[in-house]
Amino acid sequence: MRNMKKILCGLFIVLMLCVVPVAAVSVAAIDNAENGNRPTVLVEYGTGKDVGLVKVTHIHYAKSVDRVKPAKTDTCYKLTGWKWTVPVTYTIAPNDGAYPPSLDNPVAEACDEWDSKTSRQLFYDPVPGEYSAGTARDYKNSVYYGDYVTDGVIAVTTTWYSRLTRTAVESDILFDTDFTWGTSGATTVMDVQNIATHEIGHTLGLDDLYTTSCSAVTMFGYSGYGDTAKRDLAIPDITGLQKLYGV
Ligand SMILES: [Zn+2]
Repeated sequence: MRNMKKILCGLFIVLMLCVVPVAAVSVAAIDNAENGNRPTVLVEYGTGKDVGLVKVTHIHYAKSVDRVKPAKTDTCYKLTGWKWTVPVTYTIAPNDGAYPPSLDNPVAEACDEWDSKTSRQLFYDPVPGEYSAGTARDYKNSVYYGDYVTDGVIAVTTTWYSRLTRTAVESDILFDTDFTWGTSGATTVMDVQNIATHEIGHTLGLDDLYTTSCSAVTMFGYSGYGDTAKRDLAIPDITGLQKLYGV
């Protein structure tokens, strides 16, 4: 009888060890949601079984904000909680170069900007013709134009990562065709490279910042027509990048 009690007690401890970490992850997910992310713990269709992946959507809204130079003491970077086994391969939607402008060069320039601030190689050259539009998980990192359902949204980056290893497995970037896109830097166009540099920051593992004192960094959460300052990383962006991938 005493042995049976011991076995039952042991079983109870094992059960608690299994249940408690799951609860802890759910709480963390709620905290992230309040900070602008929308994480979803993915479950297998039909069975409800946890597949070990978390999906996070970063939405970039249009809003004109006067840029303020960050104070030296401001950290002005925030980590999402994932990183990649680099280099990462992007697949860019083919485009004939008419309107909207081809994503090829601006996205390559944006990747190079991040790549130039760490000695690790972050990206391979993009693979043409392999992209897939849509938010389904297919383990291809696709960059493409599309029409997002909500008004006032410039771009959306959707990332999936393993909650066990905190390693990202896919990140897709949508540029919303509700805006007039361009590469000239004119005040009448939304600059592709500017937005691409910000969105690629999400892919790499950096979060949005919304406080005005951080408005001069690439990872600031709002942009407007004519904004090109996000093309070049600010010191806090580089600090965040190097926390993840080294100097
Ligand atoms: Zn963002």
